[in-house]
Amino acid sequence: MEAIQCFTQARGKLLRSVRAFEPHKLISNEHSFFFYIFFSYHVEKIVADGDDLVVSEGSDLAAADQGGGGSSSSAELLKLEELARLLQAEDVELLLQRFVVGDDSADMEKRLRPYIDRVRGYEDPEAQEAARKTVPVDELEEKALVPLAKVGNFKPSKSEQDHAFLIQLLYWFKRTFSWVNAPPCEGCGGETLAQGMGTPLPSELRYDCSRVEIYRCTRCSEITRFPRYNDPVKLLETRRGRCGEWANCFTFYCCAFGYETRLVLDLNDHVWTECFSVHLGRWMHLDPCEGVYDEPLLYEKGWNKQMNYAFGIAKDGIYDVTKRYTRKWHEVLTRRNLITETSLSAVLAKLTEECRQNFTFEVLSALEDREKREMEAIESDLHAADDASVSLPGRQSGDKEWRISRSEIGPDDNGSFSSSSCPVRVCFDEHVTKIYDAFSPILSLLADNSVAKLRALEVFEIFRELLEKMRKSPFKTRRVSLDSASFGTPPFVHQLLPSFSELLNALSLKCEHVDGKIDISLAGDPVKTSLALPVVLDALDDVIHNLRQSDHFGSDVLSFPLLKSNRIHSGSVLASGEELPLGIATAAFDGTRETKWEEPNGGRGCWIMYKVPDGQMRELVAYELMSANDVPERDPMNWVLEGSSDGGSSWHILDEQTSQLFNNRFERRTFKIKTKVPPSNAFRFRFLAVRDVQSNSRLQLGSIDLYASCN
Ligand SMILES: [Zn+2]
Repeated sequence: MEAIQCFTQARGKLLRSVRAFEPHKLISNEHSFFFYIFFSYHVEKIVADGDDLVVSEGSDLAAADQGGGGSSSSAELLKLEELARLLQAEDVELLLQRFVVGDDSADMEKRLRPYIDRVRGYEDPEAQEAARKTVPVDELEEKALVPLAKVGNFKPSKSEQDHAFLIQLLYWFKRTFSWVNAPPCEGCGGETLAQGMGTPLPSELRYDCSRVEIYRCTRCSEITRFPRYNDPVKLLETRRGRCGEWANCFTFYCCAFGYETRLVLDLNDHVWTECFSVHLGRWMHLDPCEGVYDEPLLYEKGWNKQMNYAFGIAKDGIYDVTKRYTRKWHEVLTRRNLITETSLSAVLAKLTEECRQNFTFEVLSALEDREKREMEAIESDLHAADDASVSLPGRQSGDKEWRISRSEIGPDDNGSFSSSSCPVRVCFDEHVTKIYDAFSPILSLLADNSVAKLRALEVFEIFRELLEKMRKSPFKTRRVSLDSASFGTPPFVHQLLPSFSELLNALSLKCEHVDGKIDISLAGDPVKTSLALPVVLDALDDVIHNLRQSDHFGSDVLSFPLLKSNRIHSGSVLASGEELPLGIATAAFDGTRETKWEEPNGGRGCWIMYKVPDGQMRELVAYELMSANDVPERDPMNWVLEGSSDGGSSWHILDEQTSQLFNNRFERRTFKIKTKVPPSNAFRFRFLAVRDVQSNSRLQLGSIDLYASCN
């Protein structure tokens, strides 16, 4: 006992010295022995990434030989020193753990074993079939394919599709499963207060319910039971709970769709999922409660969680994946005090062996091979430099007080993954231009036939309704029929329909006359239609809005803002910043309202640059800016638009605006270039201020459209 106390005290002292990297203090320290042993052991192994720089045995780190060809910089030395410190601290912890840690292998085994049975349950084909039936597969497939198409990938591989579907499955799950703090009263729907635990009823026990929480209504005093079900099939129906139920059910869904999965159990009270992404060639973290994926440092960095043990539980074994979720392994080690590392490895090996009892030699060797690669990758990430430019959000699931009570609120609790760096992105938006151009023959025909404003409005409203119906139909088999009569008198329909052919073509749709009906169906790749439908619906709203605003309709109004010709497309975009993943710069050029460009630090000034493809020179005649979906404070107010004739080396001013206000969300405003300007092959908006720089640091825009002259 005395020895343990001594070591515990020594540990703090030693760690402080090691972390401060003060070897002279350690040498005079009574525990210098440990430092010496581990220091010299580790310097042999230190390899810096980049240029195979090896620090040889016995050399002083501060005067390490940089080796041939390596660029010698003090930054690299610092990196080495930091690495040495970390490795040192880890070893000290490992050593001390042997003395201060209890060694209850039986207890650890007892804790983990039930989870193996649970994940085995996920393999039941009937249960899987039941799970798949609850998922709108067609809708998720479409949602998976559209983002790929948006970056120009119309022919994704199977693994790309599977990866994208998994992410949509995660988002869908987050939308449809509900979080429970205290369940609402079953009698009156009122608020309830916890009364303690109850005994499970036989009807609850049937669904693997080990605990029942009891709540009393604050209004009608009725008792509401909250059984904590572990049976994932039951959860398909109840669709509620806390992270235990969420992760259990989501992991089961992943299994049901054929993904290799692990239920990740964090002994410090959280559960999530890992799936093997064939596309990425590695395991990927997915947190269903948060709707976050591939952000393993979410807990340690975002939630300030004190990680200790994280076990990936799969049908083929239990994996200690803790190192994936930390960059502070030496600190995590101080909290791994339930069992020594050696005994833990033995417990995991034993349970894993049981899981693999009937595996063939081939399967076993493939598993071991992959596991080896996984652990190597985890080890190399563990000491990788932390990407400080990415800040992770605090916990979003559960109510705020509950999160605060768990200290899981991040430093900046706005749920933001901010990135200050922003790559050059290419717009795949030719379809947007085609759609805008395709309104020209329709509007011209209506004007040529002297159709009145109300009649013209009616035509567009009917067409909009039709396309809305089209959007709601299953994406692979989209089809709508309409009675010729609904377009008015039959001769009118026949006159009008040819003018719509360009628009239908832009939507990859075709129109056929069948038995007095007009049948509109897919003409090509269904994903092209999925991509185009939101664009045309927004464009139709815009046409309808502009028609309503104008006092009459005729050929004299066939220009901005009603008719938008020669929209510049397929350029590349670079911005001063962007919000990941949902506020990227190209989102301003995709023709849909539902996405926006968001500049996290743009409130007091930011920029976005657009390069015309192939350096083509275009004479800008107008541009449009649309306000985003929310937060008017982030609307741009003052800006300068510049053009460049040399690809962005020098700039000339095209337009300047001050004190501009967007009165509505999704308000599209047209600005015409008033002076004769030289043709440009690059454009740059410098946004100087947003509507409210005091209360908000961000800028956002729903869309930016640039229009060139016809020649
Ligand atoms: Zn009640």
